Amino acid sequence: MTPDVLGRGLDEGRLPALGALADAGWTGQGTSVFPSLTPVCLTSIATGAFPDVHRIPHLVWYHRGEGRVIEYGSSFSAMRAVGARQAIRDTIFGMSGEHVSPEATTVFEALEDAGLEPAAINFTCYRGRTRHPIRLPALARRNRWYEAVYGPRHFFFFNVFESERTGAPLAVRSRLEGSIDDYAAAVGRWLVTRDAFDFLVFYLPDYDYASHIAGPDRSLEALERSDRALARLLQAGGGADDFLERYAVLVCSDHGQTSVERLARLHDSFPESLDGVLALASNRAGMVYRLPGCRLDSRALADRVEEDPAADVVLFLEDGAAVARREGAELRFALEGEEWRLEGDAAVLEAERYPNGLERAWRALRSPTAGDVIVSAAEGWELADLGGRHHLGGGSHGSLVAGDSTVPLMAAGFDEPPFPSDPGITDLAPLVLAHFGVPTPASMQKTREAARA
Ligand SMILES: [Zn+2]
Repeated sequence: MTPDVLGRGLDEGRLPALGALADAGWTGQGTSVFPSLTPVCLTSIATGAFPDVHRIPHLVWYHRGEGRVIEYGSSFSAMRAVGARQAIRDTIFGMSGEHVSPEATTVFEALEDAGLEPAAINFTCYRGRTRHPIRLPALARRNRWYEAVYGPRHFFFFNVFESERTGAPLAVRSRLEGSIDDYAAAVGRWLVTRDAFDFLVFYLPDYDYASHIAGPDRSLEALERSDRALARLLQAGGGADDFLERYAVLVCSDHGQTSVERLARLHDSFPESLDGVLALASNRAGMVYRLPGCRLDSRALADRVEEDPAADVVLFLEDGAAVARREGAELRFALEGEEWRLEGDAAVLEAERYPNGLERAWRALRSPTAGDVIVSAAEGWELADLGGRHHLGGGSHGSLVAGDSTVPLMAAGFDEPPFPSDPGITDLAPLVLAHFGVPTPASMQKTREAARA
């Protein structure tokens, strides 16, 4: 959800639940991470860290240790291209259970360690301290799924994991009609009615799904449905006023969305005869990996990618510095201690167009799981996924540009606006911990003042 779409919905009075929170609290904007894609963003929200710490680099990436491609569900065709069974396993179990770095602490882990009771509904980065057996053990055994995962104390995940019996309907009946948000509303209502949690992540993904298909400017109806799910949560607490007596509320989206008018295939930049090059893309970001046998260095791979009109900013590491290239101009940059060292054309990542561009690009490149070259797509372009699927005529996200990256933030039930200046989605977890008086784990502490300079 972009701040523009939220603003329009509020102005037209079509989002009464969000409107009640906005009236009672404070509304602003923040910045997502890069690539601005759901697995990366949700992991950043949960861990209060960028991909350099949590190591989820993209929606699709190459696992160098296992020598295989990981796909978290760009499309069903993309999942089939890498093996649907493995892709489902990676999406539901592997990301939280194996791929999120053990060095990162999640907000759920930190709260549970402090004796508090976290809860999450449908949130895909869910790693916590409580063991939850799967509800479908026979199916799990047949598919080599996990028979149990570690999640927050109260944990609900698309009917696959349910820590309590709530009577909520099946989550995945009809996404276009908002069945996942419906499920979240039913579970959320159950939890609020029982005063079951100290902290709840209430995740509503159906608007993103609808906006991918119709485009961000034509999906307000879907957002109205999400607002109704939120309304049911507030009503369970006696309406917005009573709810805010009991709870402080933060609202954010994990990324924005922009319209897709043109389509490219990243692997077209590389002839089949070229050994040791793996180009992976999804939505509006791509990554190129150098595999054994690759004779081209990262700069040479970037040269080829730059020829593609779909490529806007092309990024790679060279001699310990990051290199960003756009329209033939080049910027070298590195975070040294608390200072940015810049060399070349700073306009390549100008802040207006690429909010918090330096830090987001730097921390994307420094993830040990990231590709050797990372591509941020140009405005209006999308990069087809491994199954050739795309959202032409609809909406997409993933790039460094403001439309994909700027998100609304809302806070209600706090004595004063809780956000730091120039906030990002990685600030949410530390902010929640501070609210409960829980110390910030080392993995959430960053030299952000310097990084934002
Ligand atoms: Zn999306």
